[in-house]
Amino acid sequence: MGYKKNYESREDMPDVQINLLQHFAFCPRQWGLMEIEGSWSENAHVVSGNILHKKVDNPFNNESRGDLKISRGLSLHSEKYGLVGIADCVEFEKSDIGIFIPRLKGKYIIRVIEYKNGRPHEAGKINFPDALQVAAQIMCLEEMFGADTDCPLFIEGYVFYNKIKRRVAHKDLAELKLKVVETLALMRHYMSTQTIPEGEKNIRCKACSLVDICLPKIKDKDLFMRIKKRENRN
Ligand code: SF4
Repeated sequence: MGYKKNYESREDMPDVQINLLQHFAFCPRQWGLMEIEGSWSENAHVVSGNILHKKVDNPFNNESRGDLKISRGLSLHSEKYGLVGIADCVEFEKSDIGIFIPRLKGKYIIRVIEYKNGRPHEAGKINFPDALQVAAQIMCLEEMFGADTDCPLFIEGYVFYNKIKRRVAHKDLAELKLKVVETLALMRHYMSTQTIPEGEKNIRCKACSLVDICLPKIKDKDLFMRIKKRENRN
């Protein structure tokens, strides 16, 4: 890949928030404008997504239904990959083929469920940015619960799409884990060089809350910079 490695050891690497991987996969420029330039603008998509997450990310909303334990707003962390985040919902279902969890005194299959306001673009398939986010959540859970990474069956991932009111199963974990590692390296490169990735007008711009800040139609970058400078003066 064409990015520089700026970190000599894991200690030098900043942790990356898992939900920002999803933003970066949606559009690297959107991520850069928010995280590096500090731009923020809410549109209807952002507001309805926030409302949905407020409903599900409630740390006091843990439940136990027989062999099923449900944890909402669980903190996630991977020391190995430098990831931090919060899972909307993690289910622990008692099973002989699961992972032993000392605190629950038994073996459990773990399911992580991410809630999204939209719908899958392809029936039965998680949209790529969401799939990347769930893969990163699974990587954290594997490290936190000591699961054998060659047996990913013990940790399952799903996205619940609110528009279709259904869970869609996460697939191709091995491939997506590699993508997570590549994406993290790319994000850290942009963070260390404080560079905002370039963006071109595309289908996603319609749903983007930063369209008026990004001005993706402007191809002439000098003109773009002049407009930004003028805005900053006002
Ligand atoms: S307007 Fe388009 S190119 Fe610009 S940040 Fe949003 S999605 Fe990316």
